[in-house]
Amino acid sequence: MKILIADDDPLSRKLLEKTLGGWGHETLAVNSGGEAWKTFLSHKVNFIIADWLMPGMNGPDLCSKIRASDSSEYVYFILLTGKGRKEDIIAGLDAGADDYVTKPFEPDELRVRLLVGERILNFEKQISDKNGELVRLNARLEELARLDPLMDIGNRRSLYETIQKVHHRACRSAHVYGLIMCDIDNFKSYNDSYGHLAGDAVLRNVANSIKKCLRISDYVFRYGGEEIVIVLPDQDMGSSVTVAERIRYEVESLRIEHKSRNKGVLTVSCGVAAFDVEGNGSKWETLLECADKALYMAKSSGRNTVCSYPEETL
Ligand code: GH3
Ligand code: MG
Ligand code: MG
Repeated sequence: MKILIADDDPLSRKLLEKTLGGWGHETLAVNSGGEAWKTFLSHKVNFIIADWLMPGMNGPDLCSKIRASDSSEYVYFILLTGKGRKEDIIAGLDAGADDYVTKPFEPDELRVRLLVGERILNFEKQISDKNGELVRLNARLEELARLDPLMDIGNRRSLYETIQKVHHRACRSAHVYGLIMCDIDNFKSYNDSYGHLAGDAVLRNVANSIKKCLRISDYVFRYGGEEIVIVLPDQDMGSSVTVAERIRYEVESLRIEHKSRNKGVLTVSCGVAAFDVEGNGSKWETLLECADKALYMAKSSGRNTVCSYPEETL
C-alpha cells in the first residue's frame, strides 16, 4: 500500500518509515499536518497514519479536513498518539479516525491494525467497483428500454419522448421541424412469399438504409410493424419532403426482390408533415396524424411515393 506518514518527531517518523517499508509498503513521510494535507491533495493516497500532536494542523484536524473533502475513494486514517486516555480516544474517533495506535507503537499491533485497514479498503474498492458496474448496466438498460432490437432504431416510447422535446423546443424558439412516416409497401405479401425471417432481414436492411439518408441530428424510430417515423429538427416541409424522397429512392435502389410489386422490387411509401409555430402551430399529436394522412394518400396513389399533408406542390 501507499501510506502517508505525518509526524513532527523525526525519530518516530523514521522508525515508522523503516517499519512500514520493511513490510513492503510505499511511504510518503511529512513533518506537519499542513504538509500532510498538501501531499494528500497531490498524491493518490488512501491510507494515512498521523501523529495527534503536531504544530499547526494537528492529527484530528487533518482527519476532519480529509473527511470533509470530496475524495472519491475512502481514506483509512490511523491516529498515532501518546494520549491513551479514553476521552482522547473518543475525541480522535469522533474527528473521523478509523483507528488509533498509542506511542511508542508495538510493531505487531501496528501490523495487524494495518491489515484491518487494508481489508476495509479492499471491501470499499469491491463495493465501488460493483457500483460502477451497476451504473454502467443501468445506463445500458435505459438505452435498451428505448431501442427496437430488430431494427436497431428507437422504439415508440423513445419516439414520444423525443418528439415532445423537439416540439417544445420548436414552440419556444419559433423553430420548425419535419415528420416522415414511412411504410413498406405490400409487406404482408413479402412475408407470405419469402418467409418471416427474410422479412425480418428486410426490416433491418430498410432501417439501415434510412439511417444513411439522415443527418446526425435527425431521429429514427420504429412506430410499429413495418412503419418507421423520422423526426427532422429544424427542417421545414420542403426539406423534409426532399429527405423522404431520398429515402424512397434509396430503398428502391436496394433492389430487394419482391415479385408481386410492379417493378419487381421492394419499395416504401412516405407521408410528410411539418411543424411551423407561425403557420400551423399545431400539437405534435396532430402532426403525427397529418403524416399518417399523407402516408395514406401515398398508398392510395399507387405506393412507392412521397406525399405531404397538408399538400404542397412537389
Ligand atoms: P401496405 O402497402 O398497404 O402497407 O400493405 P402491407 O401488406 O405492407 O400492410 P399490412 O399492414 O397489411 O401488413 C403489414 C405486415 O407487416 C404484416 C406483418 O406480418 C408484417 N410485419 C410486421 N412486423 C413484422 C416483423 O417484425 N417482422 C416481419 N417479418 N414482418 C412484420
Ligand atoms: Mg406496409
Ligand atoms: Mg403498415
